[in-house]
Amino acid sequence: MLDVENIRKQFPILSRKVYGHDLIYLDNAASAQVPRSVIDAITHTYAKHHANVHRGVHCLSQEATAEQELTRREVAAWIGATDAAEIIFTRGTTEGINLVASCITRDMRPGDEIVLTVMEHHSNIVPWQLAAKQRGLVIKVVPINADGSLDMDALRALVCDRTRVVAVTHVSNVLGTVNPVAEIAGIAHDHGALCLVDGAQGAPHYKIDVAAMGCDFYVFSGHKIYGPTGVGVLWGRRELLEQMPPYQGGGEMIDHVLLPEGTTFAELPFKFEAGTPDYASIPALREAIRFIDSVGIDAIEAHETALYRHITARIAAELPQVRIFGTTPGKCPVLSFLIGDAHSYDTGVLLDKLGIAVRTGHHCAQPLMQVLGVPGTVRASMAVYNTMDEADRFVDALVRIAPILS
Ligand SMILES: *Cc1c(COP(=O)(O)O)cnc(C)c1O
Repeated sequence: MLDVENIRKQFPILSRKVYGHDLIYLDNAASAQVPRSVIDAITHTYAKHHANVHRGVHCLSQEATAEQELTRREVAAWIGATDAAEIIFTRGTTEGINLVASCITRDMRPGDEIVLTVMEHHSNIVPWQLAAKQRGLVIKVVPINADGSLDMDALRALVCDRTRVVAVTHVSNVLGTVNPVAEIAGIAHDHGALCLVDGAQGAPHYKIDVAAMGCDFYVFSGHKIYGPTGVGVLWGRRELLEQMPPYQGGGEMIDHVLLPEGTTFAELPFKFEAGTPDYASIPALREAIRFIDSVGIDAIEAHETALYRHITARIAAELPQVRIFGTTPGKCPVLSFLIGDAHSYDTGVLLDKLGIAVRTGHHCAQPLMQVLGVPGTVRASMAVYNTMDEADRFVDALVRIAPILS
């Protein structure tokens, strides 16, 4: 069992009140709260060694650089990458996917195919659409089964020798479905295609091992793993990153600049890190990873799943009018639901008045909403610091507001 009370003490925001109620924060899939160590790491940078990285001969710049590069090595180890140069710091998952979609499609030919799934976040749809439009590529979409699992037979049928990339989410931010990404990467490779995995919802809950997964790119965001906003990670296989052209041009990413042409580019990972990185947040990302490791990712996931099971068991017993979206066995503890025909927004507003933070709407997954046949859902997503008492108070609140909504 986790010592949740002790863990909660590390998160300053959890002691605040909302409209006079104790805050119950169940919007973790959008952004998780941050422990004191992460806040302190940011403050520490500004107070102790604030200076731009890489170009400095002076002490502060060297310290800032060392902090950033130590973080890169720790991130690599954390996701099972052997080579720290394969870790590219980005602004987040979105930027990582845009980078890959922009760079790996430049040598594609009209008619080449990209396979996505209908459960993707807009971040793993729109960058591919932009590239497809530019290059005349064709996008194919894998459907889902009734329980929210991916239709793997359809995926096998869609991936063919024209497929150049299969881009799939590790975990659905709406349904909680955990996709068989190793198997999907294998299918992609059997057809000579690449596989990108959107790890924004995978990294907060599961041990990531990119080598075992066998994918070519894995991306995630700091703010969903108890870390700072403004920083994310793109991991890519070295030989692919080396072949890819740069994404953005600017300082830090060059080897030698010549006018009017002839500029050469820096080695990995700097080739993909144009401009000044968020060197204040990057060391704080390391503290987020250390926090997760100090608790243990398996213990975190087990705790969240216990909360999820408790909530869904009570809903089944007490709230027959609640519809839950995503019921695959072994799913990630993300609860998407609607109370009868009530609009998700109304439910969210009433919960907010009771100090309960949930997310409502389409969750940046409009194609999925279309398949589910609803404009949006209410989403309650768990984290390590949520308690059984909060789970009960959440269901109590649903029981209280359900009659108002119908
Ligand atoms: C949040 C999320 C993203 C986008 O992450 P950003 O940090 O906003 O770039 C992409 N995919 C999934 C599955 C997400 O949950």
